[in-house]
Order: sequence, then structure tokens, then C-alpha cells
Amino acid sequence: MKVIGIEGTAHTIGVSVVSSDGEVFSNIFKTYKEKEGIHPREAANHHASEIVPLLKRAMEEAGVKGEEIDLVAFSQGPGLGPCLRTAATAARSLSLSLEVPLVGVNHCIAHLEIGRLRTEAENPVLLYVSGGNTQVIAFKKGRYRVFGETLDIGLGNMLDKFGREKGMSFPAGPVIEEKAKEGEELVELPYSVKGMDVEFSGIMTSALNKEVLVEDLCYSLQETTFAMLTEVTERALAHTRKDEVLLGGGVVQNKRLQEMIAKMTEERGASYHVPEAEFCVDNPAMIAWTGYLMYDSGISIPVEESNIKQKFRTDEVEVTWR
Ligand code: AMP
Ligand code: MG
Repeated sequence: MKVIGIEGTAHTIGVSVVSSDGEVFSNIFKTYKEKEGIHPREAANHHASEIVPLLKRAMEEAGVKGEEIDLVAFSQGPGLGPCLRTAATAARSLSLSLEVPLVGVNHCIAHLEIGRLRTEAENPVLLYVSGGNTQVIAFKKGRYRVFGETLDIGLGNMLDKFGREKGMSFPAGPVIEEKAKEGEELVELPYSVKGMDVEFSGIMTSALNKEVLVEDLCYSLQETTFAMLTEVTERALAHTRKDEVLLGGGVVQNKRLQEMIAKMTEERGASYHVPEAEFCVDNPAMIAWTGYLMYDSGISIPVEESNIKQKFRTDEVEVTWR
């Protein structure tokens, strides 16, 4: 069976073709580069103009024709309304014209499922840290449950906003990682863990108000926020009695964050897993693969019930495929 997946929750639009054996034939995506924060409508316009060429390239690279496709999956949420609608419209028309079923996929769950496919993790706690999202997710009693999450903005957004204020290019995450290597002094910043949840806005404001070397600020921002995430992930491991951590989202490409998670898991006798970069960031293969898992367990949606869910909760989905 061959599946087309379309991702379009935020700044990334992409199309992938995967097989029911978990082979990824193509995983092609483009990212809208924001100048001053993401403008949902401008991002959606970008997606609308890219989707057809991306679809062609994804099918060409996969070497498949329309009539060989058995299923269309799309990112149903959570995300930005205009972006979600653009991806969903493309998916619906594809499903209708190819006369194949349609599946709506939860984006956060897809990060976890692609990680299970691409790494040796089987039943992990996922630390998902991207631009718009920051969540600690694990499977328990038939659902993926959120054990901790950001109460304000995703860590990636915070790093990007901080970087913009400091004149760095977008995305600022990798720039901050480089500058942090030159940092020597740990500046005190608020350590905002509330129960199992985290907050980042206050930390950013505090950092922007300090008159110290930007390298020290970058270093301190990383040390503080990554320690918060490591603490919450460790507690989720203890609570769920799991022994695998899976990383997902663009921010987890950061080597310092990986190092902290590696140390924590090692001390606990647990393992940690990071998918290849193209499967960490927002990508369409994760939508195609999760769509296949859902369909294989009996799920599909009629086009008229395929409306997007901007606030799609991770634990809303009954996990029928595990
Ligand atoms: P995503 O939303 O999952 O597509 O990931 C994009 C986010 O990841 C952006 O906010 C980037 O700033 C962030 N990011 C990418 N690479 C790194 C890095 N090496 N360190 C920290 N953040 C990063
Ligand atoms: Mg994401």
C-alpha cells in the first residue's frame, strides 16, 4: 500500500510518499521564512503556491503515479488556521480525484510515530520541542497523554524571538547554539517549572533585560531551559515507568540539549533516541506514516467531516493502532 501525506500546520508545507512497510520513498518540504513573527495568512499563501510543485516532485522522486496511491493523509491540527486549511484543501481534492480514502492526522502524535519508525524506540516518552510546541508525551491506557507542556510559547519560538531582538538571522536556534559555545558565565534566569509544565516568556524577558555578553546570554538561556525540559522528561519517565526517551521537533537538533538528555537517561539506565534531522523537524513523511497506521486500524474520514482542528489535543485521539 502507498500513502501520500501532506504536512501544513505552521511554516512548513510538504508532501511525502511512504509504503505500508514503512519505507519512505520521498519526503519533500519547504519552509516559509518569516521576517517578523509568523503571519498565518502569508505562510498559507506560500503553502498554496508551493503545494502543487511539491506534490509533483514527491511523486516523481517516489516513482509513483496517481493510480498507485491508496490513501491520502493530512495534518488536521494543531496549528494555524490558514495553513491547516490550505493543506487540508489539497488533501481533500487529491482524495476525491484519486478516489482513495482520507485520514486526518494529529501533528504531535505524528512526531512520535515517525520517531518509533526511524529509531529503535518502541514505547518511549517523547520530548517534543519545536517552534510552536513543547510537550512531553507518552502512551498510557489507549491514548497518547501529555505529561507536561509549555503554558505559553514553544521553546523554538522563544529562541527565535530572542534572536530577532538580538539581530540574529531566522531561525535563531542554531545561531544561539553556536554563540552559547563561546559563553563562559551562567547568568541567573528564572527557572520556570510549574508542576510538570514549563514557561518560557518570562525567561526571555529577563534575558533581554540583562546587560551582559550575548554569548553568556545564549549559554544561560540554553542551560536554563534545557535543564527544565530534562527535569520534566525525567519525571515523566519515572511516573510512566518507561525506559526510553525519544526526541522530536526542530529544537532537539541542539547538541547541548541532546547531551543533557543523554546524561539523564544514562544515569537512570534508560535509552534515548533521535531521528535523522529530516524526521525531527515538521515533515510530511510523519503524516503519511501515521495516516497509514490509523487507516490500517480502521480509521478514515469522509471529506465532509474533515474540518481542521486548530486546537487538536494530543489526548483527543483514541490510539487504535497500538
Ligand atoms: P520545527 O518547528 O519543529 O520545524 O522546528 C523549528 C524550530 O527549531 C525553530 O524555532 C528553530 O529556531 C529551532 N531550532 C532548529 N535548530 C536548532 C538548534 N540547533 N538549537 C535550538 N533550536 C533549533
Ligand atoms: Mg512539529
